Amino acid sequence: MNATLIDTLRDASRDSFSTRAGVVLLAGLLAWLAVEVWRALLRLMGERRQRTVALEKLHWQLQEAKIRCREAEQVQAGWNGIRKFSVTKKIREGDDVNAFYLKPHDGRPLPAFKPGQYLTFQLDLPGRDKPLIRCYSLSDCNDGKKDFYRVTIKKEKAPPAKPDAPPGAGSSYFTDVVREGDILNVKAPNGHFFLDMAKSNPIVLLAGGVGITPMLCMARAIAESGSKREAYFFFGVRNRREHIHKEELEKLAAENDNIQLHVAYSKPGPDEVKGKDFQHEGRVSIELLKEVLPSNNFEYYLCGSGAFMKSLTDGLEAWGVPDKDVHFEAFGPATVKKKTAAPSPSETVHLAKINVTFARSNKTVRWEPSAENLLEFAAAQGVKIDSGCCAGSCGSCVVAIKSGAVDYLKKPDAEPEAGSCLTCVCRPKNDLVLDA
Ligand SMILES: Cc1cc2nc3c(=O)[nH]c(=O)nc-3n(C[C@H](O)[C@H](O)[C@H](O)COP(=O)(O)OP(=O)(O)OC[C@H]3O[C@@H](n4cnc5c(N)ncnc54)[C@H](O)[C@@H]3O)c2cc1C
Repeated sequence: MNATLIDTLRDASRDSFSTRAGVVLLAGLLAWLAVEVWRALLRLMGERRQRTVALEKLHWQLQEAKIRCREAEQVQAGWNGIRKFSVTKKIREGDDVNAFYLKPHDGRPLPAFKPGQYLTFQLDLPGRDKPLIRCYSLSDCNDGKKDFYRVTIKKEKAPPAKPDAPPGAGSSYFTDVVREGDILNVKAPNGHFFLDMAKSNPIVLLAGGVGITPMLCMARAIAESGSKREAYFFFGVRNRREHIHKEELEKLAAENDNIQLHVAYSKPGPDEVKGKDFQHEGRVSIELLKEVLPSNNFEYYLCGSGAFMKSLTDGLEAWGVPDKDVHFEAFGPATVKKKTAAPSPSETVHLAKINVTFARSNKTVRWEPSAENLLEFAAAQGVKIDSGCCAGSCGSCVVAIKSGAVDYLKKPDAEPEAGSCLTCVCRPKNDLVLDA
């Protein structure tokens, strides 16, 4: 073989070697690329799946947050209109007094309320063409953690002056008809008589008879919040038969040094022992307060009969307690008038010229400038208008206005429909014709 042939063969074998190497290299490159693309695809699919899962999770978290938000709003703001409640327990507390434990029929959480507030019931009594509205103070506190509300209701007897009159319609219904398992129509807690739990100043709670309900709620709220706020709790009843929530009160005082309980029996029974069943013989009076309290420097909360509240508010005023420190709730027509700004002389002249017509009763009368509100004015004229809270909350005294306008003495909690007014908290602005 000559040299040229040998060179040609060597070149050829070098070429075929580099071609094969190139092919192998290319194949390797392609395989690596395929693996990378596959991995990238898998990664993308995984990421997409993760994104979908994350999105789904976010969606559900959002839904849950919305529900919680709605619940929290409900807990804050109560509910609108009527909510159904089941009576889960009815416990006899004394002569014709029962405690009712109420749970929401929808099973959803209950709003917190301010200790001292009340519930409004819409009662469908047999034989009545429209529901009877009645308010009852909450006798146990709830800061949103309990699943029940409690009210304590006393059957109202016929007034002594009219022994033949029927007993109270609403309270008799609760006492004689309502049973465990029954369902009631209830409006959300409301009212302006409450204990400000943000404050820590010492207080005096003054309760007469069933007027203990808002006070018990306030005392329980202090105890359950763990606050060391000083509270003197005076409770006046005739004797053991009226001493409602006795064990509960004694336990509350025994477990909380800051709550001092003073029970006064005005007519103790022969076996009722001073120092055991009650602490003071007689009524809760201003003299008793002076004897027990270290000074008059307290904020006072009162609830009881008209006579109870009148004597104590007068006594507190005479003792130099400023008006701003005396708060009270009237369960019936107020015998203690809240001091509203008296009309100015020019307003009085204008008010004295106003005619109020009760169209259904066919009566037109000149407005009396000293009258407290339209509800009381109507009653004084013998015109009956239904009423409940007498504080512009429950809506039972609503009356349609046929012509004219009214001025509100305080902003009602529940705004009445256009063309009507809540007679318990307003007076006429000019000549007025009411559908009453
Ligand atoms: C904010 C607030 C909170 C309250 N909290 C409580 C509470 O915690 N516990 C409680 O027990 N009460 C409470 N009350 C009182 C309650 O709302 C009712 O007013 C009470 O139960 C009486 O209502 P009734 O329907 O039974 O009586 P009504 O039917 O209104 O009768 C009232 C009175 O009139 C008499 N009467 C009826 N017909 C006649 C007639 N023809 N002639 C003469 N007299 C007649 C009845 O015998 C009765 O004595 C509260 C009231 C308010 C405003």
